[in-house]
Amino acid sequence: MSAVTLTLLEAGHCVFPEHITRGRGGFGPVRFPATFALIEHPTAGPLLFDTGYGRAFFTATRRWPNQLYARLTPTTLREEQLAVHQLAQRGLRPADIPRILISHFHADHVSALGDFPAARFSYWPEAWAAVRGRRGLSALRAAYLPEVMPPDFEARAAPLDPAALRPLPPEFAPFRHGVDLFGDETLLAVPLPGHAVGQIGLLARTAAAPVFLLADACWHSSAIREDRPPHALAQLLFADAAQYRATLHALHTLHMHRPAVALVPAHCEEAQERYAAAS
Ligand SMILES: [Zn+2]
Repeated sequence: MSAVTLTLLEAGHCVFPEHITRGRGGFGPVRFPATFALIEHPTAGPLLFDTGYGRAFFTATRRWPNQLYARLTPTTLREEQLAVHQLAQRGLRPADIPRILISHFHADHVSALGDFPAARFSYWPEAWAAVRGRRGLSALRAAYLPEVMPPDFEARAAPLDPAALRPLPPEFAPFRHGVDLFGDETLLAVPLPGHAVGQIGLLARTAAAPVFLLADACWHSSAIREDRPPHALAQLLFADAAQYRATLHALHTLHMHRPAVALVPAHCEEAQERYAAAS
């Protein structure tokens, strides 16, 4: 069976009180890395899963009301952490990336889309429909900053087709359906509802083990082990808190039955370190 390579990279981080994100621990701030993934498919070439923070985030949050976003999640991004610079170190130019898969439209996942002039953008249609056209406070309430989006986003959109959902291999139960991006089961986009409308994760078959990129379906690996949602305050931010808990419980079940599947939340330092050590 063919396999992809997957490199987990970090484009900036923010800090946020641990207790809010973890549902336990202190109220002091903890580091919250914004990861994205470079995936190299044997025939389709490179693609990205999200982009992390980009320069556009800082421009977009200079003024009211978007300042609130930056104040709530104080963010640091070093120039060399920009996705384009990290890809350059791997011999890839921005124009070499033909496709970016977007988990959801929160600004810490999409703020560098504009750095990739040749990329088409794939996402779950509901995710875009939920934020498209929002401005100001209405956008901010959805953690969406329209100012970070490339002006030609819709011209380059290649949304996933919900009609293409197919049963997943049984090893990924209780997750049952996904979209097979290249028809070879190497990359499967899987709906992960709850955190944001239309959020997707990505199941990637690497030579070592399947890797499940979870975006914000949960924030800490400990949440999966303990089946523990974040603090009620954080749940207020979610599109659907009941769906979030159901998705988290499904991840807990998958982890218990298939510990070999690497579960990687986008903002979890522990998962980041574990994946780096294993690859
Ligand atoms: Zn998010």
